[in-house]
Amino acid sequence: MERTFLMVKPDGVQRSLIGKIVAKFEEKGFQLIGAKLMMIDSELAEKHYQEHKEKPFFPELVDFITSGPVFAMVWEGKNVVQVARNMMGKTNPAEAASGTIRGDYGVNVSMNVIHGSDSLESAQREIQLFFNEEELLTYNKDINRWI
Ligand code: ADP
Ligand code: MG
Repeated sequence: MERTFLMVKPDGVQRSLIGKIVAKFEEKGFQLIGAKLMMIDSELAEKHYQEHKEKPFFPELVDFITSGPVFAMVWEGKNVVQVARNMMGKTNPAEAASGTIRGDYGVNVSMNVIHGSDSLESAQREIQLFFNEEELLTYNKDINRWI
């Protein structure tokens, strides 16, 4: 079973989009196995976005991602890395299809509401950066017991 790292960025938290975003992945059938509201410090931001270190937008990106709380999550499911990327839409909200999270809620390329790992390797790296093993729970859902 695949795992991916998803994060509601500071703009999404400020705009009260956490619930809507979580609902989309739950409705798709993925399982939330870890989550926390947290601040990212500049050290973590630089590690997380290390591939963009040389880009002109890097300082702006670090300022933005450390500017307020983010909602960090680990989701599990079949092909969850690629499917979550599809559900997020393109990086630039102006190019993201409607129905995708960025297409529906994103404002511009820096304030694009959500981060998601782009490969299995980055998922593994990002999960380890943000979560301890004890913070991740695997559990079965037994709907008939509750409803
Ligand atoms: P994605 O988040 O879709 O994987 P990238 O890995 O290319 O996209 O970029 C990481 C993040 O950096 C983007 O989500 C966006 O917030 C920011 N970013 C990317 N390109 C630009 C840009 N040209 N100007 C400002 N911010 C950018
Ligand atoms: Mg990326």
